[in-house]
Amino acid sequence: MRYLVISDIHGNLSAFQTVLQDAEGEFDFIWCLGDVVGYGPDPNECVALLRQHPHRCLSGNHDWAVLGRLDLSTFNDDARNAIAWAQGVLSDESRSYLEALPSLAVENDFTLTHASPRHPVWEYITDRYTAQVNFGHFETDYCLVGHTHVPIVFEELDDNEIMTHAPVYAQPLPLNSARLIINPGSVGQPRDHDPRSAYAILDTDRMTWEHRRVAYPIAETQERMSDYDLPYRLIARLDYGL
Ligand code: ZN
Repeated sequence: MRYLVISDIHGNLSAFQTVLQDAEGEFDFIWCLGDVVGYGPDPNECVALLRQHPHRCLSGNHDWAVLGRLDLSTFNDDARNAIAWAQGVLSDESRSYLEALPSLAVENDFTLTHASPRHPVWEYITDRYTAQVNFGHFETDYCLVGHTHVPIVFEELDDNEIMTHAPVYAQPLPLNSARLIINPGSVGQPRDHDPRSAYAILDTDRMTWEHRRVAYPIAETQERMSDYDLPYRLIARLDYGL
């Protein structure tokens, strides 16, 4: 089975469409690691497009925030304003879809969650220490996470030391049963100084993982964000991948 592994679409339809086109014919099923909405201008369209494909989706902190499950005072001003806007436009259909999403799932050798297996909606796995602790919170060989918007691989060595690997693009990485926490990066709001959408292809027959990047029409998304008066800083950051 070939999986398109995506995360953090954040209501950016142009980015999501570009990723689907780029990976067309190369996947059978989608694993989406949450934050389908929040920040971007097309929350309902992104939910609808995801639902056109066979997929499994987890819920992220922005999905929870738009549903009113989280206290918005924990978000910065720009994120809060964008969430309030998304709450206003979210259709009943999108709402009931998001409400039914689980925050963690186990699929054979893979644990799927938005943030971390220890705190599925909240925790950022940005460093080796946080990764190290989290290896004790899932039982499978592999755990797939999003949330930081930065593609990375954490490998657990025999002595529970952690090695980090920067993503190698367009080159299948063999999964040879070393335990890994893998982040495919963000489709709709990359934050690793590369504005291109990030995603991954997982092939469970060959047991390979491939990180990918693809440029999308950023200006299209920015125009819709301006039309809806979404915060300027959220519009500008898409140019820089920040
Ligand atoms: Zn996110």
